[in-house]
Amino acid sequence: MTDDKIEFRDVTRIERIGAHSHIRGLGLDDVLEARAVSQGMVGQKDARRAAGIVVQIVREGKMAGRCILIAGEPSTGKTAIAVGMAQALGSESPFTSMSGSEIYSLEMSKTEALCQALRKSIGVRIKEETEIIEGEVVEIQIDRPATGTGQKVGKVTLKTTDMETSYDLGNKIIECFMKEKIQAGDIITIDKASGKVSKLGRSFTRARDYDATGAQTRFVQCPEGELQKRKEVVHTVTLHEIDVINSRTHGFLALFSGDTGEIKQEVRDQINNKVMEWREEGKAEINPGVLFIDEVHMLDIECFSYLNRALESDMAPVVVMATNRGITRIRGTNFRSPHGIPIDLLDRMIIIRTIPYVEKEIKEILKIRCEEEDCNMHTDALTILTKIAHDTSLRYAIQLISTGNLISKRRKATEVLVEDIKKVYSLFLDENRSSQILKEHQDEYMFNEIEGVDSGAG
Ligand code: ATP
Repeated sequence: MTDDKIEFRDVTRIERIGAHSHIRGLGLDDVLEARAVSQGMVGQKDARRAAGIVVQIVREGKMAGRCILIAGEPSTGKTAIAVGMAQALGSESPFTSMSGSEIYSLEMSKTEALCQALRKSIGVRIKEETEIIEGEVVEIQIDRPATGTGQKVGKVTLKTTDMETSYDLGNKIIECFMKEKIQAGDIITIDKASGKVSKLGRSFTRARDYDATGAQTRFVQCPEGELQKRKEVVHTVTLHEIDVINSRTHGFLALFSGDTGEIKQEVRDQINNKVMEWREEGKAEINPGVLFIDEVHMLDIECFSYLNRALESDMAPVVVMATNRGITRIRGTNFRSPHGIPIDLLDRMIIIRTIPYVEKEIKEILKIRCEEEDCNMHTDALTILTKIAHDTSLRYAIQLISTGNLISKRRKATEVLVEDIKKVYSLFLDENRSSQILKEHQDEYMFNEIEGVDSGAG
């Protein structure tokens, strides 16, 4: 029983470690040179450096509507680099990530799904002026609510060192007063726009009253000078959030369920005009972020042509795509093209190439993954695993870390040994061995499509 419990916890922990959870940034120095191993990133220096330059340009907000393609063999870190870009950008710029195939599974048209993804990647910084009142509470008067209305009215007298002023209080502010248990002697701020009341501490002038109870420990000087100050509050939202909030059919609650459905083009046009107006009046800034589309070859010709057009807009984000395909068919056509992307779209892209890793780099990545998964691996086991990664794929070898770790724990060992790796290598097949088995036993499977072999369906 106890064993089972321990195992259960372990599995939960493994599930929480994502494929790229060891990536904490692009691992670049101040002049954007890639460090050999940094922030969970190993090797792939040129691609990381190029990605760093893109991040820099996005941060400066100068590059809108640009398209970058990360192209390279499978498991060469394309997604890892995109994750590193998101980390390097931080929370200031929006970063949306999707897989090309996602657009086929949503309950909306493909172009609507792309449009929403593009608008989720554009931040709008809306500036709002508010008045902040700060002072020591001298007196609070709250009138009993008129029967049935629940509305309260009140007044507070605040003072600074040299002046005293009374303010009328609305229902929302009174609620905050009650919640925060504001009383005479408190130094408070009231944000008039949001109605938020914050208690900063207690005034020196009344400190004596509270010494006896010992209830108050923090005393501050009564604020000097003006009671009322103008302050600028900045709200950061995405264009998509503004769309949803203003879409009558959905309302803002849809933001929480994610079930936003399709949004009418006229709503978007109105919002674009309004945001442009705010921008001209200096009330808002547009902050284009990044939309990352993994497995971009899964998009079809309609999507590519939509993207080509959408990227022309000056409210477009930077679009980063990734693919591991060579010359292949463009979905929805019979034409073949590099990476399965139409030539006209390819022409407006800059391409970052990722290259296969050498053994030393593979070993370093595996070592980082072992640390991430709390796996203590013997050096010989790590060497074998590196060889497996080299002969099969990095991703397959990474899978063997967690499974090998479970097997070693099963036999109550503290370290993963060569025998554990051998065991999981024989239990779980890689793609090559699986294909090999299929070729050898093709007749025994159903729906065989290899020429000359009858379908086993019967
Ligand atoms: P695919 O073309 O198959 O989608 P990919 O190029 O996107 O592959 P990733 O998924 O990024 O490859 O890489 C496979 C695994 O190796 C991931 O767990 C990733 O985090 C890790 N990885 C790849 N490159 C690096 C690197 N340079 N540094 C650290 N970890 C890496």
